[in-house]
Amino acid sequence: MRGIRSSQKRTNFFAGAELPRREGLSKQEIRVKLERINRVLPAFQEQLFSCRLCPRECGANRFSGETGFCRAGKDVILYKYKLHHGEEPPISGSRGSGILFFAGCTMSCHFCQNFPMSHQFCGYRVSSLRLADIMLHLQEQGAHNINLVTATHYLPQVLQALQIAYGKGLRLPLVYNTSGYERTEILRLLEGIVDVYLPDMKYARDDSARRYSKCPGYVKANREAVKEMWRQVGPLRTDENGIARQGLIIRHLILPNHLPETLEILQYIRQTLGVGPAISLMSQYLPIWEAHRFPELQRRLTPEELQTAVTALHILGFSEGWIQEFCCEDCAGASASVHHLKPPPGSSNIKSRAATKSTCTVTPGSSPPIQAQNV
Ligand code: SF4
Repeated sequence: MRGIRSSQKRTNFFAGAELPRREGLSKQEIRVKLERINRVLPAFQEQLFSCRLCPRECGANRFSGETGFCRAGKDVILYKYKLHHGEEPPISGSRGSGILFFAGCTMSCHFCQNFPMSHQFCGYRVSSLRLADIMLHLQEQGAHNINLVTATHYLPQVLQALQIAYGKGLRLPLVYNTSGYERTEILRLLEGIVDVYLPDMKYARDDSARRYSKCPGYVKANREAVKEMWRQVGPLRTDENGIARQGLIIRHLILPNHLPETLEILQYIRQTLGVGPAISLMSQYLPIWEAHRFPELQRRLTPEELQTAVTALHILGFSEGWIQEFCCEDCAGASASVHHLKPPPGSSNIKSRAATKSTCTVTPGSSPPIQAQNV
């Protein structure tokens, strides 16, 4: 009987009714968030005149038409938005995460799995007002949160959109989904605004970061950024339905032939932050986009590599997180089968999570660049 009531509530919600009573931020939480946005927004808007939003610190006057490494100007170019079910379970929940993908990136990964938006700058121009409407629309659709994917270079405009959206009734927690190439000084300004940090820790060595992502100083910037995120939000906390309300989830995409870096990253987290952060080990690497330039990146992960990383995770004592199963059979090819991991005894909070189809649909050239346009 209880299950039926729950199902009916969900149907009503999708029809555009209000958020379920216990979901979403309280009025007090929204008030605090809005005060915080109001206070820091001018500092972010100044960045558009001499941009130092990310560790590259280009100094581009984006307001007058200059662009920096990320290619972003004064307007947001949005690649797409949707209810997304492929994130970690506390982010996707049962109804999906309200995800927004932005064009451009402060990194330049040769194996980027989102290259149409990051490298090819696909998308359409949106105003902050339109962005706010999109966030409210995602809420109406049932999203558990607003999930900003690689929004570092658009923070001034996104914060303005959030100011509008929270003022007009947005009640969802904010997920900051990032490559982890961030400036600590900028992150400090986001304290009290971001609820859940979802950073990558991609590399443990700067030569890898430069070689594969054209990214100088990644390791130091990334480590300082993750420490700051941890200071702000601490361990992952979920509501009674298992939906993330606050906290840090660290993602690591295991690269083929790079297990030592994976182990160094896990050891670093263990030594610096302890076993408190939730860890999401990802196995979805595919040799796409420009990965063909690097012989060592021209294959998928092997089951042995994944198993070694998982064993290290357990040996180091992490108890919260997810291990991504191998991608679907369609894209894994003949040489790799779906590999289900069984967490060893005593680590019951680390769960396998299936890679979703959405991670498998990108193929080189599948989405040609389109001209930015006003919406
Ligand atoms: S966000 Fe873009 S323009 Fe700003 S410093 Fe970084 S790369 Fe340069």
